Amino acid sequence: MELIQLPIDGYEKVVKCHDPASGLKALIAVHDITLGPALGGLRMWPYNTEDEALTDALRLARGMTYKSAVANTGLGGGKSVIIGDSKTQKSEALFRSMGKFIESFGGMYTTAEDVGIGIKELEWIRLETKHVTGLSRESGSSGNPSPFTARGVTRGLRAVTEEAFGTSRLDGFHYAIQGLGHVGAEIARGLSIMGAFVTIADIDPAVIEEFSVLPGVEAVEPDAIYDVDCDVFVPCALGGILNDDTIPRLKCRAVAGAANNQLLEDRHAEMLRQRDIIYAPDYVINAGGIVNVSVEVGQGGYNERAAVQKIENIYTALKEVFDTARNEDITTASAADKVAEHRLEQARSRRGSPTA
Ligand code: NAD
Repeated sequence: MELIQLPIDGYEKVVKCHDPASGLKALIAVHDITLGPALGGLRMWPYNTEDEALTDALRLARGMTYKSAVANTGLGGGKSVIIGDSKTQKSEALFRSMGKFIESFGGMYTTAEDVGIGIKELEWIRLETKHVTGLSRESGSSGNPSPFTARGVTRGLRAVTEEAFGTSRLDGFHYAIQGLGHVGAEIARGLSIMGAFVTIADIDPAVIEEFSVLPGVEAVEPDAIYDVDCDVFVPCALGGILNDDTIPRLKCRAVAGAANNQLLEDRHAEMLRQRDIIYAPDYVINAGGIVNVSVEVGQGGYNERAAVQKIENIYTALKEVFDTARNEDITTASAADKVAEHRLEQARSRRGSPTA
């Protein structure tokens, strides 16, 4: 097993992991541990080059620092990537080898599920290190994060309706939900029960058939979701859906959903602002899953009650982001980064202060 440390400016520790015996080629990037040990998922992807994998790991690790900081998880940010095809190249030996490299961080980095990784792989990693989260509930772990992500989005929507319409009540408004998978379905069900009007779109006809029967729910073709005249557009499927083509079509007052990387480019946050559409930054409103997992890393082990309480804070975090954006006349996306940086600076100065 070969571990090569890469000196990367602004990152706590980045290593390249090679294990010819198992065929493992991976990278582990810890961005920042000011607020606590780093937490971030493991992704398996067939990157074309090691440089491509490194760029992705660095970007994702930094994103985790910001997400955890705004959500007040008390953790730092990190991420790991395995270079390989998740459909054909998984083996117990490969993931046990990954587990040994994670163990070598001595608790500075804890891993979890991400693209291409399931519970089985996490269980193999667990054979070599305890620094892995998101295993089954039966094993005392935090389990499937999706219901917690959905809960966090629904909580966040209250801050959004308050900002847009001056009330934190969710009923009486019209939501257009794109994607009814693990997260979107739960949000749609909740909003329907509350008495909201919900337009849904999904590329899977079976899902549409199942949800169209709910009270107040109506379906449109996948591409028509951008044109729905509604109060809040709730993206819960793909990334990059807020772009030059879709933003001019939106007929909503706010965009707030679970999907990761909703803005195709940073400038699209400004484009939304110009159209007077309130944007709930994705990494703030979709933090419920990571907050749930973070409880597992804390002392005393996983506790659902504590997780649910912490997820309530997504409302406060979004309010802070909206206030910052309004007061400083900047986009909500920039405001979210500012809030994260402020938390990190405060923690650094407390640490540096002899009286702290
Ligand atoms: P999922 O794969 O279970 O669901 C995605 C749904 O979107 C599916 O029903 C799919 O058919 C539908 N879809 C795909 N393309 C579509 C299109 N063009 N138009 C309409 N519908 C389309 O995923 P999920 O776990 O529900 O996650 C949804 C989003 O939220 C993803 O972007 C994910 O990265 C993000 N997210 C999820 C979690 C979590 O805890 N699951 C946490 C944070 C962020």
